[in-house]
Amino acid sequence: MKRVSPPKALRRKSSRESRLIEVINELEQFLSAQQIHKILNEQGSSIGLATIYRRLERLSQEGKVDALISPSGERLYRRCGQDSGHHHHLICRICGATQEFDLEAVEVVTSKIAKKHGYQDVSHNLEVFGVCASCQSSVTKSISKPKLR
Ligand SMILES: [Zn+2]
Ligand SMILES: [Zn+2]
Ligand SMILES: [Zn+2]
Repeated sequence: MKRVSPPKALRRKSSRESRLIEVINELEQFLSAQQIHKILNEQGSSIGLATIYRRLERLSQEGKVDALISPSGERLYRRCGQDSGHHHHLICRICGATQEFDLEAVEVVTSKIAKKHGYQDVSHNLEVFGVCASCQSSVTKSISKPKLR
């Protein structure tokens, strides 16, 4: 007869997760899991990087955070600025400022293309990277070499 006591770590885990969500809610720009990990550690949380990765992936699948791949191939996360529904992001490559947008034309064109080729149950991601107006005025000279292309 074995008695398995309920895992003590359970409660602690959920409070760690709520700390993670609090930090994400304060984010104004997309950050990598490593940057989020650093913020949490600075606040005294002992949450591990692997745990953060897993939680962030789950939250993004649930639509609670936005996840995207930066031009340098890094996976970045941020609280979604738009409560619901499919949308796109316009992101400053320098400061990370983000605009959320919907564009009907994108939806129409992508579904037409899919239909034309006989695809069903399609989805897409569209993230637009650029340099925002305030970064253009502050660093005009230092961005002569665009990273993309
Ligand atoms: Zn969003
Ligand atoms: Zn900017
Ligand atoms: Zn779309």
